[in-house]
Amino acid sequence: MDLDRSDDFDFENRVVAPEYAPEDSAVENPLRPRTFADYVGQEKAKENLEVFIEAAKRRKESLDHVLLYGPPGLGKTTLAGIIANELGVGIRITSGPAIEKPGDLAALLTNLNHGDVLFIDEIHRLPRAVEEILYPAMEDFAIDIITGKGQMAASYHLPLPRFTLVGATTRAGQLTAPLRDRFGVVLRLELYEPAELARIVERSAGILGIEVEADGALEIASRSRGTPRIANRLLKRVRDFAEIVSGGVVTYSAAKLALDRLEIDELGLDSGDRRALSAIIKYYNGGPVGVETLAAAIGEEAVTIEDVVEPYLMQIGFLQRTPRGRCATKAAYLHLGITPPGNLADENPHFEV
Ligand code: ADP
Repeated sequence: MDLDRSDDFDFENRVVAPEYAPEDSAVENPLRPRTFADYVGQEKAKENLEVFIEAAKRRKESLDHVLLYGPPGLGKTTLAGIIANELGVGIRITSGPAIEKPGDLAALLTNLNHGDVLFIDEIHRLPRAVEEILYPAMEDFAIDIITGKGQMAASYHLPLPRFTLVGATTRAGQLTAPLRDRFGVVLRLELYEPAELARIVERSAGILGIEVEADGALEIASRSRGTPRIANRLLKRVRDFAEIVSGGVVTYSAAKLALDRLEIDELGLDSGDRRALSAIIKYYNGGPVGVETLAAAIGEEAVTIEDVVEPYLMQIGFLQRTPRGRCATKAAYLHLGITPPGNLADENPHFEV
């Protein structure tokens, strides 16, 4: 494997990046499910939410605050929209870094209608001063704002409409305890199984008017890193190939050809994933290596490795997180066509519980 050649690999624009990319918007909106019935998978989270929503509606109360966590592209924003839709209320969408000052949050909160959902994406990135006024807002539906300084200082007590905060984060561990404790419902979203992603691909193809065969959908699904946003994006790319090679029908061979051309392998790994794995193997003898060191070695940010690269590599058993760092497993060596060292058992010997 030639690590140097791919030194300029563009992680930001990788086809399998699960983060939102502007090109998604036009296609993604019609693809976003609006009801639980259309939302594929995540059965546990869905069942819980359905019960809580039904109960809140019967009691004519607002729903308890909900925290959704899991890797990007798994449907957290979508779920927030469905919650609002099923409750029959409005939704305001914002994100942690977008709320810079307490006043920004106060403006958002005072403009809500009774029962509305406020969705804050990347809630772990809320500035501290903003987080502090969020506590009483969540708990007592009121905020105290202080304006001016010294003798001119004045304090205002603002009652707020009852609302439901839906917070989303890729890193539940970075949330402060007081914030986490104020969510009544905490749900973790899991990576999707290929069969679920195939259903999502078929549903999206239907909406976009693309003809897709079952094994074509499954091929896209199995290379989508367990992530609906990637599945939808790959469907679009495959459609372009299908128009040329199979009269626009997404067959198994059209999907395979397109994805091979895009250098996304049968497991959904792209050259960025393969590069991270081969760096662990070649530079650090398979690990353990700290995430910061690995990030520097491949020219990537540690958060991207942790949030985007690792969850899937761990899910497919290619990477282990140990207290001393990251280790490549025997399966990872074999997938890259590198002979594993003799002492590397099926379980990585560095693994410590
Ligand atoms: P997140 O907020 O977790 O980053 P999004 O909610 O924006 O992810 O989901 C990305 C896209 O993936 C959505 O626009 C939607 O088209 C699709 N999607 C996500 N979850 C599902 C699902 N369970 N069923 C069908 N499509 C989904």
